[in-house]
Amino acid sequence: MNIHEYQGKELLAKFGIGIPAGVAALTVEEAVAAAKTLPGPLYVVKAQIHAGGRGKGKFKELGPDAKGGVRLAFSLDEVESNAREMLGNTLVTVQTGEAGKQVNRLYITDGVDIAAEYYLSMVVDRASGRVAMIVSTEGGMDIETVAHDTPEKITTITIDPATGFMPHHGRAVAFALKLTGELNKQAQKLAAQLYTAFTSLDCAMLEINPLVETKDGRLLVLDTKMSFDSNAMFRHKDVEALRDETEEDPMEVEASKYDLAYIKLDGDIGCMVNGAGLAMATMDIIKLNGMFPANFLDVGGGANKEKVTAAFKIILSDPAVKGILVNIFGGIMRCDTIAEGIVAAAKEVNLSVPLVVRLEGTNVDAGKAILANSGLAIVPADDLGDAAQKIVAEVKKAA
Ligand code: ADP
Ligand code: MG
Repeated sequence: MNIHEYQGKELLAKFGIGIPAGVAALTVEEAVAAAKTLPGPLYVVKAQIHAGGRGKGKFKELGPDAKGGVRLAFSLDEVESNAREMLGNTLVTVQTGEAGKQVNRLYITDGVDIAAEYYLSMVVDRASGRVAMIVSTEGGMDIETVAHDTPEKITTITIDPATGFMPHHGRAVAFALKLTGELNKQAQKLAAQLYTAFTSLDCAMLEINPLVETKDGRLLVLDTKMSFDSNAMFRHKDVEALRDETEEDPMEVEASKYDLAYIKLDGDIGCMVNGAGLAMATMDIIKLNGMFPANFLDVGGGANKEKVTAAFKIILSDPAVKGILVNIFGGIMRCDTIAEGIVAAAKEVNLSVPLVVRLEGTNVDAGKAILANSGLAIVPADDLGDAAQKIVAEVKKAA
């Protein structure tokens, strides 16, 4: 789960971490009112979308010469005109894809006199099984480029969960940022605070780019991206409440309501599978037969009729889907239950594209009989290869 920059900063501030003052706004009027609460005279108007690269982004509606999604404003009038230009328009950045994202929310924040920009991020590093802190003196720019061109400028420090954050971790961070004196001390303290924030909020990723040194000698978080472990959100209702569904794929939002693991992809063949491994194999074999999957969808081990129906509706609501391949292994779940769910769902949603079903496992014969007697044009398949060939053939025939 992702949140907006302003929400991330507000969370970090609760841990004592320094951020510039700022207020979120949904309208031009709110933006001006927000600016009035700040000291000025320099304000920054920042588009709030779940994607980075906003500063260098371009608004689709405004042409190539217009400014991007992070704009300096030197007066309340400029806050107003920038807010007017940004709200409702579509910002395209390196992270949004070509379609871009509509800007529905702004963050009006204090302009900071920047002396230097640094990079600091934290992730759960699966290889070491630890939280890793990744720091670099090269802040404010695309970290992937830094990693590619000058990897020596990136330092990774991992923290053993058995000891937790130790003072030497803080010193390593401050050293890697080449900070001395008072700033060095601030960096050590900041690293400890960030570790506490990361672990107590169950973050999956926390990126600060840039972390800035101000001309008056303070370290401030100028931009942050945070994401959380979805499986831990039950114990962070306050964080869960920050979810902005308008930023997410509507079908993925719908799927999450039914606890379905769904990811939209670019192909033509909708897939409904149980188990992530089987889902991956199904996608592979569709490709092997010359077409592409329209989605990844794992209905899980204990799918019932309701879930299967929801999954069908989600797949069919994607206009790109030209055929559906159901590949279910009945282990915990019995094939006859699945077959009943498929038939009920296909009738309910008025199935308009070819449907190939491959069932295997417990009560498979009963399941196949239910499909055969359903009166629906369901094409049965015996194994994975057969199923993939059949759905590709059916889709080509229907085209
Ligand atoms: P993004 O990474 O999405 O482009 P940032 O928040 O990192 O957005 O902003 C891009 C750049 O804009 C920063 O690297 C910084 O130079 C400048 N900037 C952002 N916020 C401020 C601010 N409050 N004061 C001064 N400059 C800022
Ligand atoms: Mg940034």
